[in-house]
Amino acid sequence: MEKKNIDWSNLGFGYVQTDYRYVSNFTGGAWDEGVLTQDANIVLNECAGVLQYAQTVFEGLKAYTTEDGHIVTFRPDLNAERMMDSAARLEMPVFPKERFLDAVNQVVAANEAYVPPYGSGATLYLRPYMFGMNSVIGVKPADDYQFRIFCTPVGPYFKGGAKPLTIRVSDFDRAAPNGTGHIKAGLNYAMSLHAIVSAHQEGYDENMYLDPKTRTKVEETGGANFLFVTRDNKVVTPKSGSILPSITRRSLVQVAQEYLGLEVEEREVLFEEVQDFAECGLCGTAAVISPVGKIVDHGREICMPSGMTEMGPITRKLYDTLTGIQMGRIQAPEGWIHVIK
Ligand SMILES: *Cc1c(COP(=O)(O)O)cnc(C)c1O
Repeated sequence: MEKKNIDWSNLGFGYVQTDYRYVSNFTGGAWDEGVLTQDANIVLNECAGVLQYAQTVFEGLKAYTTEDGHIVTFRPDLNAERMMDSAARLEMPVFPKERFLDAVNQVVAANEAYVPPYGSGATLYLRPYMFGMNSVIGVKPADDYQFRIFCTPVGPYFKGGAKPLTIRVSDFDRAAPNGTGHIKAGLNYAMSLHAIVSAHQEGYDENMYLDPKTRTKVEETGGANFLFVTRDNKVVTPKSGSILPSITRRSLVQVAQEYLGLEVEEREVLFEEVQDFAECGLCGTAAVISPVGKIVDHGREICMPSGMTEMGPITRKLYDTLTGIQMGRIQAPEGWIHVIK
């Protein structure tokens, strides 16, 4: 298999059109068998449900080459399950888990030339998504849907080392109590755009969102869960019904307990506690963990003891262990690595 002529280690996180994507339509109450297509464009009616009432959910996962040359994905079964939960919450039909896993494999195999080589730091990012397709003008769920997966090669998240982030406590909320914060829906991102643009204008990398009801507890950022480390090396991660259940965060919790022998607490985290933590990181598929060096709450600065130059020591161990598992350098727990070829 000849790889595409791409400068893998200098790729950014942008859309690069690849050769094949998977499409399946839900019409007349059933999913069709699905196909790979070379057509990257979608033609929709002007009144399509997704365009009017934002009925769409998505997922994000990566395929990459391991040390021994296999092409694999990491825990795609959890993406399949989470997408089923997201769809159900927006009154969309669920795309069956086995079909999701098969579609992921088909897309990766068909675009093998775009899977970055081991050691480049780059990966093939997969974007499964689903949307209401037929015309909807009265407010109600669509009848017809399309499920798709495309992929795009993305560069190493940290070019030249992971520099700790400076984040601010946001005055905006990303989720409502009893709303949709726990599902992966485009609507949650649409409402976070103003908050992230203004954070960037003011010199911050990210927003820390507090719980929308009491504004006293830490929730997450626009696209990553928090993981804290106490001064006595306990891992603490916020628990809330309006946080998106990150697969990376759930995996890091298991790595902390089973590989590093650390105690983990998943519980409500008061913002007032944050000043007592030793390390802070953001977890998600894109970066695995991004270290946070400083948190600013309306002018009051909380500087993490781990500092502004590198990851804290526990964050570093978590990062090295999970990326080691993903790349096949460390034995993975049963079922975490799905070999495509
Ligand atoms: C996707 C996402 C995450 C990270 O989840 P992973 O499964 O680890 O990639 C965290 N928060 C939000 C809001 C997300 O949409």
